[in-house]
Amino acid sequence: MVRLCVICNKERAIVKRPKTGQQVCKGCFYYVFETEIHNTIIDSKLFKKDEKVAIAASGGKDSTVLAHVMKLLNERYQYGLELFLLSIDEGITGYRDDSLETVKRNQQQYDLPLKIVSYSELYGWSMDQIVKEVGLKNNCTFCGVFRRQALDRGAVMLDVDHIITGHNADDIAETVLMNILRGDVGRLQRCTEICTTGDGCIRRSKPFKYTYEKEIVMYAYFKKLDYFSTECIYSPNSYRGHARTFLKDLEAIRPSAIIDIIHSGEAFEIKKEVKLPTQGVCKRCGYMSSNELCKACVLLEGLNRGLPK
Ligand code: SF4
Ligand code: ZN
Ligand code: ZN
Repeated sequence: MVRLCVICNKERAIVKRPKTGQQVCKGCFYYVFETEIHNTIIDSKLFKKDEKVAIAASGGKDSTVLAHVMKLLNERYQYGLELFLLSIDEGITGYRDDSLETVKRNQQQYDLPLKIVSYSELYGWSMDQIVKEVGLKNNCTFCGVFRRQALDRGAVMLDVDHIITGHNADDIAETVLMNILRGDVGRLQRCTEICTTGDGCIRRSKPFKYTYEKEIVMYAYFKKLDYFSTECIYSPNSYRGHARTFLKDLEAIRPSAIIDIIHSGEAFEIKKEVKLPTQGVCKRCGYMSSNELCKACVLLEGLNRGLPK
């Protein structure tokens, strides 16, 4: 017997939605996937009319789907946004050079202006050189700190004050779990916010906050989007890896676990008496920092002195 789509009741159901378990046809899957993201954008008043927005683009599935969906929603619902692609070149031979080729093709496919900023030009060090110095243990710490600043600096070069990233529901649930396990109250409070603003006035948003990774993969697959799926040669952050494995196990038992964890994070409140670090600016480079020097400057100083460890 042919099973019909539970939404339109006309077409044959060919997808079981990972998020809800509903059996739907391809057309309805696209429609609900896109509409849920649109609803998230509208409910949280993410954009202002005529805003210039940079899409952080790595060539991976999340940012490729983000570029595709943002262009589509911007036209369908007339958000009036001016969209850009912003890519970071960490300088990882055999990984980032290939994925940047994907971003360049995406630029053609979506007809969006592209800006690439590299660690070498910003910091005088590529990740290849950093790994030669520090080995494969703390490389992701350097990379993560440098990427955050690099995106902000790229946004300034593009003259945009809003960056959107492809972080999905799974990423956010993982971050909630990691912050609980580390006891990092300050981050736990911030990590579920859909939009954050640092002192640099550049807003960062996550339109995929409630979008399941499995659905992003399905969407990219059915739409035959051009993305890069190789993992970084310098191995992923292992602590996040543990949280990820745990989350996947939970999802297998109960798919709503991902959203439930995000909702728990959102409901989290800190007592007024608890003191949190105050935000200032880095004395050396002016980037936001809760210490005298920002993390990037501390790491760079170590690198330049030859004392990275
Ligand atoms: Fe950078 Fe680590 Fe990610 Fe590779 S895995 S891109 S080194 S943060
Ligand atoms: Zn349908
Ligand atoms: Zn600094």
